[in-house]
Amino acid sequence: MNTVERQVGQRLTERGIRFTRARRRVVGALGRGDGPRSAAELHGDLGGAVPLSSLYRSLAVLEDAGVLSPHHGTRGLTRYELAEWLTGHHHHLTCVECGAVDDVHLSPAGERALEKVVDGITEAAGFGPTAHTLDIEGVCVRCR
Ligand SMILES: [Zn+2]
Ligand SMILES: [Zn+2]
Repeated sequence: MNTVERQVGQRLTERGIRFTRARRRVVGALGRGDGPRSAAELHGDLGGAVPLSSLYRSLAVLEDAGVLSPHHGTRGLTRYELAEWLTGHHHHLTCVECGAVDDVHLSPAGERALEKVVDGITEAAGFGPTAHTLDIEGVCVRCR
């Protein structure tokens, strides 16, 4: 088991949830990927090793336990990724051609600059920001 799997196992144990083989496979596949994946995409990634019904159930249980975060695509497709406490803070690049969503991590300087922008946007509204994610749409390198 790698670090992420150990951390997930610990979280599930704390909540009295079993880390079943299907759940392990989902966490493993998401850990190997480079961005949020839909249930159908994960089903393909896993070569059908986890039946779709059990995959949906695993995603729901893991989301409920705070292990997965949903990512709501512009076309209404929900994808899942490991929560930021497992993988670190990051942003997303969404391809408008093929729909792929890739993770992108900013440099510390880039993240500080973005936080300034967020503060500028929220301050005027008297809004206290607690989190943010930047979703950038465009055409990915595979589709260009
Ligand atoms: Zn693309
Ligand atoms: Zn992500």
